[in-house]
Amino acid sequence: MRTLNQDILQDKLLLKNYTQQELELLITELGIPKFRASQVYKAVYGNQVPSFAGITTLSKNLQQQLDEKFIFTSVTLDKKQTSSDGTIKFLFTLADGAQIESVLIPSEMEVAEGTPKRRTLCISTQAGCPLGCEFCATATLKLRRNLETAEIIDQFLTAQQHSELPITNIVFMGMGEPMLNYDNVMKAVDIFTNTQTPVLSSKKITLSTAGVLPGILRMADEKRTIKLALSLHATTNGIRQKLMPIANKYSLEELGNALEYYYRATKIPVTFEYILFDGLNDTELDVKRLAKLTRRFPSKVNVIPFHEIDFTNPSGFSAELKAAPKEKFFLFLKRLKENNVQVMVRSSSGLDIDAACGQLAFSSAAQ
Ligand code: SF4
Repeated sequence: MRTLNQDILQDKLLLKNYTQQELELLITELGIPKFRASQVYKAVYGNQVPSFAGITTLSKNLQQQLDEKFIFTSVTLDKKQTSSDGTIKFLFTLADGAQIESVLIPSEMEVAEGTPKRRTLCISTQAGCPLGCEFCATATLKLRRNLETAEIIDQFLTAQQHSELPITNIVFMGMGEPMLNYDNVMKAVDIFTNTQTPVLSSKKITLSTAGVLPGILRMADEKRTIKLALSLHATTNGIRQKLMPIANKYSLEELGNALEYYYRATKIPVTFEYILFDGLNDTELDVKRLAKLTRRFPSKVNVIPFHEIDFTNPSGFSAELKAAPKEKFFLFLKRLKENNVQVMVRSSSGLDIDAACGQLAFSSAAQ
């Protein structure tokens, strides 16, 4: 898998690529006492300072020495768009010119006196994506490369600097398939949840996969305590294969077994993401098959309205996809509930700025 060409960094290192232990080693190699690494770590993740100059426990000389060795922030914020519903979309440029987007979503369901209790940042894990799902705007960008751990972390830290309220949750559900960048994503998780300077608890972090089976098994074997979501979107292999090419590689039966294995290893309930398409996956048989799948282990189903991606000029099967009309959408929810399925509805936050689920593809840049 392609990575960031290190020549671009001109022998400098990305500071947030390293755990505290790794940073201690690097710092001592520079002849700087080991304890300085924990001061840097506290300032970066505890106080969330934006530069070495903000680490007041370091002398000016030391700040300069570290500045010469490390790149403090790996992303540059190019554009920030705010939706009428409060959703914010961030466009970042990386050191090699690649661009990615992140979306900050205020939770609508927990709005009390105008202040949302939950603010979830949807983070990208790859520049582009190789998986080619028919309903997704990111698929049109193809894969440029995997993101570095620092680039994953800096989406959060930069978005936090531009958010009035604390970000409370993270979902790896932006551009890219997180399981195809497993090591860098999990290292970011380890840094976010580092017990000495925790940014977030693992319970507040969700990884969403299109169904990369080896990643699910690895999360189970490593007993990862973040939450796992599967983009299901169909209850038969035939329809799923039409929507998501990855379904040709891993069948629903294999994924079901892997998720059961994951649940037995971690005891963490699984979320199924289900975009409802008109006439494709919205029948009574789909309700029954979904209900059967969810009975295998504790789980819930997030039903998501399909968001049009006309701005990508879709063709073929992609152009045929239509959102299920409202009445069908609510009937499907009702039928799932009647079949004892735990159901949630994912809102269409950020629709007016093309920041809703499946829409991330620099639409504003292309307009
Ligand atoms: S839905 Fe996710 S996995 Fe599928 S193409 Fe889009 S970004 Fe990639």
